[in-house]
Amino acid sequence: MKLLLENWRKFINEEYEPITTLRIFDFDETIAHTRSEIRVKAPNGSEATLGSQKEFEDYMKDAAAKEGIEAFDAVLELQELGYQIDFSDFSIVKEPEEITIVTDILKSFSEDSKTYIMTARRGNSIGPIIDYLEDIGIDSTQVRVMATQGKSKGDVIATMIKQKIMDDGKSNIHRIEYYEDSQKNIDDVFDKVCNNELLREIKPEDFELVVIKVIKNDSGYKLDSFGC
Ligand SMILES: [Mg+2]
Repeated sequence: MKLLLENWRKFINEEYEPITTLRIFDFDETIAHTRSEIRVKAPNGSEATLGSQKEFEDYMKDAAAKEGIEAFDAVLELQELGYQIDFSDFSIVKEPEEITIVTDILKSFSEDSKTYIMTARRGNSIGPIIDYLEDIGIDSTQVRVMATQGKSKGDVIATMIKQKIMDDGKSNIHRIEYYEDSQKNIDDVFDKVCNNELLREIKPEDFELVVIKVIKNDSGYKLDSFGC
């Protein structure tokens, strides 16, 4: 009986939760600033230490162009060509500084939304990210941490919209709030969600993507939002 009630409670809480909003937060430089570096050794012996997402993206873009690679994330193909890329700082949360302008929003959960942290890090970072959330006073059971491991976040979010289709043929998701610092990821998500022919049919009439860009400036951080 107890089990039955528990299952029933789970059922009404999870299955019949009227989820209409997805809140999706990037981790690095969105929720926290960390002192992570990526160290790269190219097949020609040259070495580079990349201290920011921007430096990393620029290096990858140049290397991919040089090697004639067109993938969204060139990491795997560069590794196959002999590039040694050391991501070990990203398997931990190294010397984090909380970005409170974002975490204040993260902490205010609402009944009709689900909250995700979507990081381009590898899967081995999920545990340390969950520990960090607990450290800054976030109930990690209310958050699902996903590691996209270099896959396009736009593709992952488009799949999330398609996940549950209601009786009217439309997705249950009416609103997505996406918090991110990387312009590359923002452009990708905007393109795959706003300009996606395949989603047109299933997006509810009032569907809204709100991109909230996290921008670092001299006095700290500010948020800039736009959407479709
Ligand atoms: Mg980031």
